Amino acid sequence: MKSIFLLRWIAAYDIAILIRYGRGMVTITRIETILVDVPTIRPHVLAMATMHRQTLCIVRIHCGDGVTGVGEATTIGGLSYGPESPEGIKLVIDSYFAPILESCDAARPAEAMARLGRHIVGNHFAKCAIETALLDAQGKRVGLPVSELLGGRRRDRLPVLWTLASGDTDKDIAEAERMIATRRHNAFKLKIGKRPVAEDVAHVGAIKKALGDRASVRVDVNMAWSETTARTGIDMLADIGCDLVEQPIIRHNRAGMARLAARARIPIMADEALTGPAAAYDYASHAAADVFAVKIEQSGGLFAAKEVQAIAAAAGIALYGGTMLEAAVGTVASAHVFATFAQIDFGTELFGPLLLTEEILEEPLVYEDFTLLVPDGPGLGVSLDEDRIAHFRRDAASATISIPSLPSSQAV
Ligand SMILES: [Mg+2]
Repeated sequence: MKSIFLLRWIAAYDIAILIRYGRGMVTITRIETILVDVPTIRPHVLAMATMHRQTLCIVRIHCGDGVTGVGEATTIGGLSYGPESPEGIKLVIDSYFAPILESCDAARPAEAMARLGRHIVGNHFAKCAIETALLDAQGKRVGLPVSELLGGRRRDRLPVLWTLASGDTDKDIAEAERMIATRRHNAFKLKIGKRPVAEDVAHVGAIKKALGDRASVRVDVNMAWSETTARTGIDMLADIGCDLVEQPIIRHNRAGMARLAARARIPIMADEALTGPAAAYDYASHAAADVFAVKIEQSGGLFAAKEVQAIAAAAGIALYGGTMLEAAVGTVASAHVFATFAQIDFGTELFGPLLLTEEILEEPLVYEDFTLLVPDGPGLGVSLDEDRIAHFRRDAASATISIPSLPSSQAV
């Protein structure tokens, strides 16, 4: 076993030296973008959309040394949550990113991303998919997991919560009980904000009462409340034992978030507002949240997410590993980032693959004992099931999803 590790280490070291000093630049020969539509196991009800499926933009970067890296971008409810959609991400990568990347060195992901940043404003989700693919390729090239390229992991397992989003109290309690019994999740997030506050709080309170100390119950308002409604709602949620309130008000009302955080008896978390390191610094410097939900896509990539984490750590803000309901590739990329965090106070919500009816990896991710196991193979440490991808890609002749031509923005 030791000799295998030694050989792997020597091979990785030799390859790294060859890349850096021997062979020179590693070209990017082709960038593939594929839209893949996968149904969800149940309607996923959020304040701004109800999702019946998830659309993935899968990116493959083929390199001149024979290595291929994979990345993924997803959004929530098409354009319901933010300014990027899967279809738009594919378009900008094909039309604008690819010509720039053609002249970049694939073995220098940071330099390639900096060059993209000089020519392309915003487009955080698309940039994240590209950075993921570049780091996956680089990890495979040098024989190291992406977490090691990001500074080294601090843990191999991440706590993962589950979102109860049927909207039906009895159904949600039964679902939570099943998750606890099978040791898959013991922390639950409820999506609220669509119904009147009293109704929403009664729903949350009934679930908390049924689960008691066996589970943590939190809520995500997805910006649906006004500040005055939030003042009342947060007090009521504190009274019924809710542990955390996520983004109660609109993302740009930073002063309102600061006022709510200052008076609340339970932690207030920023999510939609955290659109990268600059926004994180702005929120931190105005004490506008107790907790940051770090998301790799929203931050603008894996390294940007690390910067958001560093700002939180410096400001004494607690951390939570967020999701854009990515499928397996985006989820595992997030896991590699979160595994490097010194602390992750409120766990993660990396359950995206569990919300989909179809497995898209050759070997599924491992969820057990209320945690996700972070893969430790080179790169992301996962392989796509090419047959499944071929079957579910939007342009496949055999695509079987019942609404293949419906843009996901209409899935509201
Ligand atoms: Mg959220």
